Amino acid sequence: MAEKKVVLVTGASRGIGKAVALRFAEEGAHVLVNFSSNEEKALAVAEECAARGGSGETLGFNVAEPEEVAAAVKAAKKNHGKIDVLVNNAGISRDGLFVRFSDDDWKVTLDVNLNGTFYTSREVAKVMMKARSGAIINMSSVVGEMGNSGQAAYSSSKAAILGLTKTLAKELASRSITVNAITPGFIATDMTDALDEEVKAAHLSGIPLGRYGESDEVAELCAFLASEKARYITGQVIGINGGLYC
Ligand code: NAP
Repeated sequence: MAEKKVVLVTGASRGIGKAVALRFAEEGAHVLVNFSSNEEKALAVAEECAARGGSGETLGFNVAEPEEVAAAVKAAKKNHGKIDVLVNNAGISRDGLFVRFSDDDWKVTLDVNLNGTFYTSREVAKVMMKARSGAIINMSSVVGEMGNSGQAAYSSSKAAILGLTKTLAKELASRSITVNAITPGFIATDMTDALDEEVKAAHLSGIPLGRYGESDEVAELCAFLASEKARYITGQVIGINGGLYC
């Protein structure tokens, strides 16, 4: 029997990250279910991984804290010997027009979305480099490609992830590690539930396919990018946005 893949998904307690964790579990993977505050929900996801044919365990750490990230990755390496796939999914959104945007909101958004992706990739890449294989998938956003009023910090963080992705792809290719970014459009999750009805209606009117995307659809793309079938795909930005941006 083939050895189980070990997959670390950040921000896997809910939303897209949860769907990604469960999708990898369906392939029989052992999933490290990261969360920052919602331990109970993360535990439920880890249990559901077992019900879906794989296995799971929670791995709590704040992606914005480099020491926490390093300690968690070290523990994972010690327990499992490897990490085959990293999905940098954890993210937050602090919205508001930029002229009134606070320094704190700016910093926390960049800290979690961009710095968190950097810290986690750096620690996990060291593990993958020794194994001379791996796949890193960074969750950016369509607004990192097209901008969005009221989302200066969020769109900047997500655009910067694209530069990081392309550079890491070049630096890690010689070790057979692929690095790609996904840019989802509007996907139905807690993040989009928090928007008011007027904003949601405006979003829908701009989506040619006429609906929000589903977390499962993003999870499917992650599974493909981590699969053997995608070993020649690296440094790419792959949109999944219903035609919102093309
Ligand atoms: P969500 O439902 O708000 O879930 C966010 C997840 O990130 C939660 O698991 C949360 O953990 C975790 N998280 C937040 N801050 C963290 C931190 N500092 N350290 C570790 N984990 C942290 O978000 P979502 O809609 O599923 O979005 C997931 C990713 O896709 C994000 O990067 C987002 O920017 C991106 N995205 C989403 C959409 C969309 O329309 N939903 C579109 C484009 C891109 P806790 O539960 O413990 O708080």
